[in-house]
Amino acid sequence: MKIKKFAKKPNDLNDRVGKKLIVCYPNDSLDDNLKILHKARENLEKINEVIVSPRDAKTFIVEKGNFFRIESIKGPQVGDLNLFQLNNLEEKFYSGKTRAFYGTHLSVGDKMFSCFPYLRSMATITWDTLDWYGYDNDGGGVHDVIGTRCDPYTSKLLTDNDYHYCCHSNLTRALVKEKNLNINEAEKIVHDVLNVFMCTGFTDDTKQYFMKSSPVRPGDYLEFFAETDLLGVLSTCPGGDCGSEHSSDEAKCYPLKVSIWNVNKKYLKDIKLSTISSYNKNHGLE
Ligand SMILES: [Zn+2]
Repeated sequence: MKIKKFAKKPNDLNDRVGKKLIVCYPNDSLDDNLKILHKARENLEKINEVIVSPRDAKTFIVEKGNFFRIESIKGPQVGDLNLFQLNNLEEKFYSGKTRAFYGTHLSVGDKMFSCFPYLRSMATITWDTLDWYGYDNDGGGVHDVIGTRCDPYTSKLLTDNDYHYCCHSNLTRALVKEKNLNINEAEKIVHDVLNVFMCTGFTDDTKQYFMKSSPVRPGDYLEFFAETDLLGVLSTCPGGDCGSEHSSDEAKCYPLKVSIWNVNKKYLKDIKLSTISSYNKNHGLE
């Protein structure tokens, strides 16, 4: 927070402030497959679905070239999504760089990039039934990449409460139970999420992270195209629609549905799939 200003203003203040802003990472050079993907998605065939119970998480697999959807069923519910490369769990979603490319909230056409040293698009968002929401009067939007995930350590720090069904724990538990990882391995690879359906922003005055009741309703979904073989893990946040609190059993929670969709590959023949970074990893050492 930058509210109290202890330091004295410099004499050349006017020369130091009010400069022109520059977008850090112009993203125009990133491949745009959206026209092809929108044609392809008219021909989807469902091949699998997974229901994630309230205050829990489940894993799912999506082959490269398939689509997946995260859908609200039964009631408004926020989901916390982790993505891994199926055969190399060290390659995982990098919310910080994705945010640097696309801003605080994701929607159609935005790509979910993986961490270093891979830095490729793991998935492209192809449809978002909440894209009408845009940004509200508080600057709130849906599907953020600014929050990290609710977790028991922060809950303990702020409220001295041991709570075991935060998204961080749910994601860890799903990896332990379904992928046979031990708890330490699993917890280490859980990473900052895409907050699916969550409505969030930064407050005007202190720029603190806020949340408000999600506008999601049963039938709404967010759809992705997998650009590599993916292991997804989705947690149903204990905050429910995140309109009051999280990290407790107080909020009303609902399940979420993940569905996997196949498409005849003839619709994808012109697509440019992302590849892992070709940077030579020299880092100035040779
Ligand atoms: Zn959560």
